[in-house]
Amino acid sequence: MSSTRRPEPDPAAGVAVVGGGMLGLVVALRLAQAGRAVTVLEAGSRIGGLAAPWELDGAHGPVTWDRFYHVTLASDGELRALLAEVGLEGLVRWRTTRTGYWDGHRLVSASTPAELMRLPGLSPWARARLGATLLAGMRIRDPAALERIPVRRWLERWSGPTAFARFWRPLLEAKLGSSWPDANAAFIWATIRRLTAARRAGLRREELGYVPGGYATVLRALEDRLRRLGVDVRTGSAVTRVATTPDGVRVHHAAGAPVGAGAVVVTTTPGRAAALVDGLSPDERRAWTAIRYQGVVCASLLLRRPLSPYYLTYLVGETPVTAVVEMTALVDPAELGGYHLVYLPRYASADEEVFTAGDAELIDRFLGGLRRIHPALTPADVVTARIARAAEVFPIPVLGASERIPPVVTSVPGVYLATSAQIRHGTLNVNETVIAAQRAAAEILAAERDPGRSVAGLGRLGSRR
Ligand SMILES: Cc1cc2nc3c(=O)[nH]c(=O)nc-3n(C[C@H](O)[C@H](O)[C@H](O)COP(=O)(O)OP(=O)(O)OC[C@H]3O[C@@H](n4cnc5c(N)ncnc54)[C@H](O)[C@@H]3O)c2cc1C
Repeated sequence: MSSTRRPEPDPAAGVAVVGGGMLGLVVALRLAQAGRAVTVLEAGSRIGGLAAPWELDGAHGPVTWDRFYHVTLASDGELRALLAEVGLEGLVRWRTTRTGYWDGHRLVSASTPAELMRLPGLSPWARARLGATLLAGMRIRDPAALERIPVRRWLERWSGPTAFARFWRPLLEAKLGSSWPDANAAFIWATIRRLTAARRAGLRREELGYVPGGYATVLRALEDRLRRLGVDVRTGSAVTRVATTPDGVRVHHAAGAPVGAGAVVVTTTPGRAAALVDGLSPDERRAWTAIRYQGVVCASLLLRRPLSPYYLTYLVGETPVTAVVEMTALVDPAELGGYHLVYLPRYASADEEVFTAGDAELIDRFLGGLRRIHPALTPADVVTARIARAAEVFPIPVLGASERIPPVVTSVPGVYLATSAQIRHGTLNVNETVIAAQRAAAEILAAERDPGRSVAGLGRLGSRR
């Protein structure tokens, strides 16, 4: 990357934000609040990206809820502050939920430390070591060193080979597929931290929250706030190319004349961004395209009856899905036309067979897997089933992942990258997305205020947490 001085971007010329997911919308909010004229260009027909809602056919009309499941934790401080800002925090409904565990034969509760210590399929010694692993994970504050340790080595050291093979490995495979051996130990640390956040915060019970109406409500409030700040939010506007001009950038998109701006913030995955932005250095392009993402294929089911008391059921047996997420163990079924909403996610990379299989085949396969866990479920219980696919959800947490984080400030003047790949030592969730967006916005404003700083210097800033 060169260390040339950047030409001064013109703040008055406005900023284009590519991508209207939560990251792009929060970047747009913070830049608009700082006085910038912002245009958001979203490819989809509605804003929200992975957090967007969709419709499921109920017998008496469509039921609207998130395409992918979302919960909020009490410890999601930045997200809750954002919800407060758009007038929604007071509406969040908090519920104590339970967690299930299916070992391939039995479904049991794994909701408390005592229940975890009674998990089937593990000897008392293996369970004790599992408990020691969770405690070790909770105690580590700085996971930097864990990023250089393969997840298997760290887990086998703490849990032993049996608990690793019976408990951890199936869970890793479920979330990371065939990429699990590449994962670093900080990934499991981040997962343990998120699972135990409520207890560490001194909360007596593990409560999960949701905004009535789901993310459709959040997105409506956010869009309303953006429009009142004068932000131009455009859907159906897939960006095809970002080019620089002598006075700024030109953003070409599918829905009309290119948008000219002083600067552009691309909020897609780095790989997609690399395909859009002209003039990246070869090193930058190589680094951006090398960041591999894990995807998900997820069925939403509307059922006439509940399946279990568990919001989340971990599955470690042979099963076509990664987990069972029973949304209505948290959300009042009255919000969903009286139905029970269940998600069946299967995490996979975009080149795996599950991404090319047809919807009917997948529904059949996923329901077959669900019936092994809940044999009493009949076809008549299933009102509707719909498949969602997202090829890029979170970056594979490879060894030394934070050293590969692309900076917000790129080598192309006026072009910034704000992406989920900049989330450091975290699991993907909206709280981390809000943090990444706000950090990126602050960095962009700082770069505008001090345009004489070298690209290399700003690059270092870009990777600081
Ligand atoms: C299965 C699943 C479960 C989840 N569970 C939770 C949970 O329980 N709690 C939680 O907090 N979070 C959860 N999340 C994570 C949450 O959804 C994400 O953190 C968040 O939505 C990511 O936002 P983003 O803007 O970074 O990415 P995205 O939502 O992917 O947004 C990127 C946007 O860019 C657009 N785009 C791409 N290319 C272009 C282009 N060329 N031109 C214009 N626009 C373009 C896309 O259409 C998209 O709208 C979950 C996600 C998934 C998939």
